[in-house]
Amino acid sequence: MERLQKIIANAGITSRRKAETLITGGKVKVNGETVTELGFKADIHQDEIIVNGVPLEKEEPVYFLLYKPSNVISSVKDESGRKVVTDFIPAEQRIYPVGRLDFDTSGVLIMTNDGEFANMLMHPKYKVEKTYIAKVEGIPSKQAVQKLNRGVKLEDGKTAPGFAKVRKTDNKKGTAIIELTIHEGRNRQVRRMLEAVGHPVIKLKRERYGILDLKGMNAGEYRELKPHEVKKLR
Ligand code: URA
Repeated sequence: MERLQKIIANAGITSRRKAETLITGGKVKVNGETVTELGFKADIHQDEIIVNGVPLEKEEPVYFLLYKPSNVISSVKDESGRKVVTDFIPAEQRIYPVGRLDFDTSGVLIMTNDGEFANMLMHPKYKVEKTYIAKVEGIPSKQAVQKLNRGVKLEDGKTAPGFAKVRKTDNKKGTAIIELTIHEGRNRQVRRMLEAVGHPVIKLKRERYGILDLKGMNAGEYRELKPHEVKKLR
């Protein structure tokens, strides 16, 4: 069951905001009854939803993996005209990113028009593992790695334990490459965790999202997910 305005927006016919106007304006019927209440919940598979006299059909779901380059916004549009993730995928459907990567983070980003799938993946209870590769300032000590593996105290509470490994160190430059796997998705979490253990991030890439990685891809490229990949992620 989902909110009616969300179902209408996810069906790809209009935005969430306009869907709300259609509902409050009495243009939406569910199982023959006009619904004007915004909190109303329905099921696209079970209920007959009619918008402006036209039955709502669920848009064919599509699923893409984008290798997001850095300096791109994880959004469908940007007021100041900066590049956004949808610029990279010429889909007919109204797709959007599952969660977000920072403007200056690159890597795996799923793009879809399937709201249920997106919500499921973003729900903390699913604990999808994400692996990040970070170039950091300083050479991490064993203690710093241990702290990451035990969970780090941040201003919004202690994180769940991560899985951290130092992949490479450059003693001359005083930098290192750290691999960090986490399953939470707090705002700027990896940057904040690494900063908290004394290693500010210079560069960040998400190398893996659940079963998906970037093998064979370059930044800015995308591919469709295979049905078995979508199934495994569910
Ligand atoms: N953690 C971050 O700090 N940034 C991202 O983009 C993703 C995870």
